Amino acid sequence: MKRHSKLKRRLRKLTFIAIIIFLFFTIVASSDINYYQPSQNTAIINNIKPTPSTPFIPNQQLDNQQRFLATITHQIINPPRPNTYEYTLLRAYGTVFINQQPEIKLPPKVILENEQETQEFQGNMRVTLVEGTSECYLQKVAADAFNKARIIINIPLKSGYSGDCTRSFNTNLRFWQKYSNNRTLEAVQQGKETKILGTVAPPGTSQHLWGLALDLRVSNAAQRQALNQNGWFQTVENDIPHWTYLGWDEESLPKFGLQNKTVRGVTYWLTPI
Ligand SMILES: [Zn+2]
Repeated sequence: MKRHSKLKRRLRKLTFIAIIIFLFFTIVASSDINYYQPSQNTAIINNIKPTPSTPFIPNQQLDNQQRFLATITHQIINPPRPNTYEYTLLRAYGTVFINQQPEIKLPPKVILENEQETQEFQGNMRVTLVEGTSECYLQKVAADAFNKARIIINIPLKSGYSGDCTRSFNTNLRFWQKYSNNRTLEAVQQGKETKILGTVAPPGTSQHLWGLALDLRVSNAAQRQALNQNGWFQTVENDIPHWTYLGWDEESLPKFGLQNKTVRGVTYWLTPI
């Protein structure tokens, strides 16, 4: 009888120890899952197309050009090939494609052929008015970010008209014809002329068609800082009033291969191609 109860006690003790060991391993295992998740995600980002809620970050061992092109390949189905007109446009205006906020609509290619194609693309954008304006539309995420910057400090639009914001195909065309002509277009298409791209965008290629650009009258560092803090950057060399919504903070831009270049006191974030 005495022996029996001793055995019972020992059994209970063993069960207790077993439960403790089991609990210990359960806790360690579950905390392991938490700790390993980030590196698992990195593996997914580098190898498999992520879900839209997971931003694509290129392999940081790649050089700038490779990082940028990896991002473009992720974002556009048929990326422009080197030595083409499309590639020239990607070089000049392609920073936009690092945008990855789920609500942002990116164009499927760098040239919209005509008004109809432009309207089809713009019809899928979720747009909103910039606060305090009656005709300045932008994609909502970009407008919200600009409104936030303007809470910090006043930043006037360049002209105050809709042309500072989202443009139609015909407005883009009209601006092109005002500053340029068909002969220049041909030279740009042949890769013989690029300077004009910093003054006006060829028909169907303006970032303003995509609802992600603004022309502003920025005159001091505080305004620049407020814009940068909210994802807005100068990305077209020599086009000083032109600002682009990139949707990332400044520290993140090199992850996608973008390079900064200061020209006459203005810092641009440019594509590395
Ligand atoms: Zn502009």
